[in-house]
Amino acid sequence: MTTLLTTSDVAHIVARQGARAVFTELLDYVLADFLRWQEFDKCARLASHSPTGVIELMPTADSELYSFKFVNGHPGNPHTGLSTVMAFGALAQVSTGEPLLISELTLTTALRTAVTSALAARALARPESRSMALIGNGSQAEFQALAFHHVLGIDLLHVHDVDAQATRKLQANLAAVAPSLRVVAFGSTAQAVKGVDIVTTVTADKAYVTILTPDMVEPGMHINAVGGDCPGKTELHADVLRLGPVFVEYEPQTRIEGDLQQMPADFPVTELWRVLTGQSPGRQGAGDVTIFDSVGFALEDFSALRWLRDNAARLGIGARIEVAPQLNDPKNLFDVVRAAANAKATPGQA
Ligand code: NAD
Repeated sequence: MTTLLTTSDVAHIVARQGARAVFTELLDYVLADFLRWQEFDKCARLASHSPTGVIELMPTADSELYSFKFVNGHPGNPHTGLSTVMAFGALAQVSTGEPLLISELTLTTALRTAVTSALAARALARPESRSMALIGNGSQAEFQALAFHHVLGIDLLHVHDVDAQATRKLQANLAAVAPSLRVVAFGSTAQAVKGVDIVTTVTADKAYVTILTPDMVEPGMHINAVGGDCPGKTELHADVLRLGPVFVEYEPQTRIEGDLQQMPADFPVTELWRVLTGQSPGRQGAGDVTIFDSVGFALEDFSALRWLRDNAARLGIGARIEVAPQLNDPKNLFDVVRAAANAKATPGQA
């Protein structure tokens, strides 16, 4: 049988654990998998584009487990009552192909993206960083804010969104769950980023947008660019990428999808796993600008699915469902059709 986790199941796991424990524990799962990067089958995700958005499939596997995620990105969705990003996925046993877990991954994507951002910033930002600007205050924003608060000790947040209602929603949510995090709203990106240690851009628009220009970037800043994650969709002015070393998840995918898509094919980048394993330097000096061009990689969903599987089992959350047939004779698949036909013929019987 397969475990099924709905969005409210995942929300219950988060509620039972508490935000700090969720972010620190999930970060350890993601880090553990980045540290064994060579053990994974990797490929750039398969994207299906339309005028309004994109639907993507993201598979990966090690020798034991296989995972995939289905995820969309439709920036106009909130106008129709749907989220910009929605996702689900599965974890299966490599040795048999048996599906172990099917889960919602919308909430989980927000968690794992925030954790990956925090993991990169912990490795790349100045260790004394305590303030962050958060540009784009939509669905991902609370998760980014809380991961940086709990993992890095960020205690001052400058926020900005072109939609003032989104900013008010973010402020209300953060005041309720993280009262020690000071949140100050600004009327423009330029004002919000002034004097902060870290800048996170997590805006949604299916266009080449310039959220951050070189004149806004100060020495020593770490830039966590999350929203530019699809061909034709960027957030950073190209010259921002020339201000310091650029770090990516999986280079072949980021060259197509990241802010990096604006740069020549030989523009130098470093994959994050190399920094995490000590094979490449991260930040070299306090005055350096470091840039994490995040697009989201399948390995992070693999880690998140492992974390969900373990927590669902430990907390007894989720339904057991028959996704793969439960057969007395594994060659007699037709038996399930006969059993259903027999049940229909004798409706009174259980
Ligand atoms: P969302 O639609 O819920 O929120 C996006 C917010 O950005 C909205 O409130 C919108 O008003 C704001 N915005 C748009 N243009 C802006 C601008 N010029 N200045 C300031 N704010 C602006 O979307 P979301 O779920 O929060 O996702 C945000 C982006 O992050 C999307 O592009 C999504 O694809 C991307 N994303 C990336 C990853 C990753 O791993 N890198 C993971 C999840 C989502």
